[in-house]
Amino acid sequence: MAEHVPGFSTLAIHAGAQPDPTTGARATPIYQTTSFVFDDVDHAASLFGLQAFGNIYTRIGNPTCAVLEERIAALEGGTAGLAVASGHAAQVIVMHALMQPGDEFVASRKLYGGSINQFNHAFKNFGWNVVWADPEDIATFERAVTPKTKAIFIESIANPGGVITDIEAVSAIAKKAGVPLIVDNTLATPYLCKPIEYGADIVVHSLTKFLGGHGNSIGGMIVDAGTFNWSRENRYPMLSQPRPEYNGIVLHETFGNFAFAIACRVLGLRDIGPALSPFNAFLILTGVETLPLRMQRHCDNANAVSAWLANHPKVAWVSYPGLPNDRYHSLAKKYCPKGAGAVFTFGLKGGYEAGVKLVSNVKLFSHLANIGDTRSLIIHPASTTHRQLSDAQKTQAGAGPDVVRLSIGIEDKADIIADLEQGLAAA
Ligand SMILES: *Cc1c(COP(=O)(O)O)cnc(C)c1O
Repeated sequence: MAEHVPGFSTLAIHAGAQPDPTTGARATPIYQTTSFVFDDVDHAASLFGLQAFGNIYTRIGNPTCAVLEERIAALEGGTAGLAVASGHAAQVIVMHALMQPGDEFVASRKLYGGSINQFNHAFKNFGWNVVWADPEDIATFERAVTPKTKAIFIESIANPGGVITDIEAVSAIAKKAGVPLIVDNTLATPYLCKPIEYGADIVVHSLTKFLGGHGNSIGGMIVDAGTFNWSRENRYPMLSQPRPEYNGIVLHETFGNFAFAIACRVLGLRDIGPALSPFNAFLILTGVETLPLRMQRHCDNANAVSAWLANHPKVAWVSYPGLPNDRYHSLAKKYCPKGAGAVFTFGLKGGYEAGVKLVSNVKLFSHLANIGDTRSLIIHPASTTHRQLSDAQKTQAGAGPDVVRLSIGIEDKADIIADLEQGLAAA
């Protein structure tokens, strides 16, 4: 008989967890400790030499974080996960494993504003050069590839514009170029979209958003799909060359289809250091248990609110792929059939001033720079998150002066709409 495969909701609650072997505690304990006692000298030596798996020091790994890693990897359909301190830390650790100074990566220009900053500024200091491509014209990804290209980076549902990237098409370009495709799946979560099924080799997350889901903890995750051949052309020396600090082992040879996650842990996290606190891992794990219920409600509410806004006289346009006439609707149906997420933008006929008035007059909505909370959130990107970008960059990133971004919460939808109605009356 074929082995029974648990469904998504079951994995969201159980994957990676078991009753604590010492106390029987059913919820995953918070292992709030910096370090772990060795059995003896030989045990310590085998842990440090990567000959045995086990806990050494919480910067490199922690049992509470390990449950979260296994759970997200299971939900994404990957071979292994690595929890880190934030979504941005995940991006640094991934690129650290792939890039040498002077290398390039191709990235979609429709990204979270913080990622655009990180790629344009901090990454340049490491000598990692971003080349931008346009998800509305997939051929620009192929044209951007050079012999120095080491990766392609996209978001499944892009923040903030409600852009759905054609993951399969970009994956085909990555395969042809012989580089891994990295997909930031923060806005979709694996409940709505599983990028690995469409050819992603690495998935990254800001756990801060829908996965944690309650607006209480910053965290990040890297998921290794186990699909990429790191040794083929020796382009990824961290994975394909002997490591002097680990007795000359070659990570890809030794760890096979989870070598990338190991490289991120034992070289990236060990040396760069953005470890997730076990307490945050616990809060995020608790959030993940209800992910399917929350995401469905987020999407149902976003569908209702976007349809209502589309008919409002003060609203010029609504960009939500869940709307039947949206230009991304067919991609949304393919990649996110259960719903197009809960973050979207709309344009006010009154422009910049109307945007400022709206965010100043809402009461149920919180005016802040976050998404993926149980609470409904609002921001006017041109005056906040995207303020540092030039006007041209703002518009390219989907954050022009008239644009308002919403992250629809799981409150009663009538209350969400009533708040927008009174806010728009004031605008
Ligand atoms: C928030 C966010 C990030 C960065 O995550 P942090 O946890 O804030 O560091 C990256 N990508 C996307 C799509 C995000 O929304």
